Amino acid sequence: MKRFNASLVWFRRDLRVVDHAALHFALTYSAKVYCVFIFDRAILDPLPADDRRVAFIHASVQELDSELRQLGGALIVLHGLADQVIPDLARALAVDAVLINHDYEPLAIERDARVARGLAAGCTLLSFKDQVIFEKNEVLSQAGTPFSVFTPYKNAWMKRLAQDDAASCLAPFSVAEHADALAPPLPDSSTLGVSSGLPTLAQLGFPAAGMTPLPVPTGTSGGLALLDDFMPRLAQYHLTRDFPSLNGPSCLSVHLRFGTVSIRMLARRAWDAIRAGQGGTGASTWLSELVWRDFYFMILHHEPRVATRAFKPAYDAIQWETGDAAQCAFDAWCGGRTGYPLVDAAMLQLNQTGYMHNRLRMVTACFLIKDLGIDWRRGERYFAEKLIDFDLAANNGGWQWAASSGCDAQPYFRIFNPVTQSEKFDADGKFICSYLPQLSRLDKRHIHAPWLAPAAALKQAGIELGQNYPMPIVMHDEARKRTLARYAVVKKVAKTGQDLT
Ligand code: FAD
Repeated sequence: MKRFNASLVWFRRDLRVVDHAALHFALTYSAKVYCVFIFDRAILDPLPADDRRVAFIHASVQELDSELRQLGGALIVLHGLADQVIPDLARALAVDAVLINHDYEPLAIERDARVARGLAAGCTLLSFKDQVIFEKNEVLSQAGTPFSVFTPYKNAWMKRLAQDDAASCLAPFSVAEHADALAPPLPDSSTLGVSSGLPTLAQLGFPAAGMTPLPVPTGTSGGLALLDDFMPRLAQYHLTRDFPSLNGPSCLSVHLRFGTVSIRMLARRAWDAIRAGQGGTGASTWLSELVWRDFYFMILHHEPRVATRAFKPAYDAIQWETGDAAQCAFDAWCGGRTGYPLVDAAMLQLNQTGYMHNRLRMVTACFLIKDLGIDWRRGERYFAEKLIDFDLAANNGGWQWAASSGCDAQPYFRIFNPVTQSEKFDADGKFICSYLPQLSRLDKRHIHAPWLAPAAALKQAGIELGQNYPMPIVMHDEARKRTLARYAVVKKVAKTGQDLT
């Protein structure tokens, strides 16, 4: 890479100063490095005023600025349209290069292309792999094609890690030792025609975003605190991860989403535990989850059409429920009023905290698609609005898995029974009661399907179905039959080879 007099690092999904690819390369190849974060109006303007993600980003950006200041630099923070602001700022600062880390989402790729076109002659946009371990074509089948099934992908991923020498693949990108290239805080930003300083949430148009507590601590300090809390539990992860009332998973998804922790650091911790024989099945199961994350980014890169269409085109022929009844069912699902306690408690967890346990994401997604017959894209959109860790690649992968339309999805005839799932993964109803306290006096034998409880048991527990807890909006056995009939079209389309792409 050639050397630059001055460069600009544009932070996006990588809000940290430790182990940061673009920042590392900027500092090692430039005499002077500016740093910027844009509250991008193209992303923010459509969001509701109480969006929790903006509060997470806001707090994390504040921490990023103070971390940069400790290293002698500072963060320029602006509010505007990134594809206009970045070229203008690059001109004002007279930088030779703008450095970013890859973003694999289709709209972000288009935005980055617009930014590249907007830069002055002589100024280049340089992008680096940072948020995954292996990307794009780095893990391919022996035939040289992208994988569409997870297990062989994971095997090839692990092989590549071992072959390439895990220590170098997972090595951090050093930052602090090159920090003397950081440009000091701008003396008077107004001379550049930009006003710096961190705008408040209210100034950004999100006065209510900080009012509800976030489910996780923010910034790199928050991510590291969660990691410290998780590491002693890593060895048990495979045993605890499926039970929403247990403190099983890491809760690091939002930190991976906004890059407040580095994926290399997390993978290294799991890899080291495996190598040291300390993490056992827990560590390898957790590493597998990080590989799923890479897998879905790789799928989105090769098949960006999945953002709107089924990965398996035949599944786009399915006729989903529409009309008033479907709308009522969708509203009940969103609001946690389906009459199935595990589904309802999970949706309340999502609505109240912005997080949902992985097992429950699978259960609620399957319920919407296969019990209510509603298009997976509607559920995907609802999760995208509510999840603090929303990530297009993983969310789309999860929804298409549940709809059976995705790569390596569950077969269409595998239809989760929401009552059995509840009995298996929340046997004593502890998770259910934490979101539906009105059910807490009900005998645990009945808590998974209150409508089957004897009238006396309901009365004793103070439950009046239809009054303080809903009757089920659908009967699972009947819904199952309807789903099998609905999905029959897939076999027909596949057999006739009809092209639905
Ligand atoms: P842990 O169990 O500690 O796992 C560690 C990390 O591995 C996670 O933080 C995450 O980055 C990654 N990971 C775990 N499971 C998956 C998976 N199945 N696919 C991809 N990456 C995974 N994850 C998101 O990050 N954003 C989403 O928008 C999202 N939407 C989902 C929607 C559905 C319908 C389903 C079934 C899953 C979705 N997932 C999503 C995957 C998974 O549910 C979350 O990553 C996980 O629950 C986050 O909790 P955690 O950090 O405690 O995970």
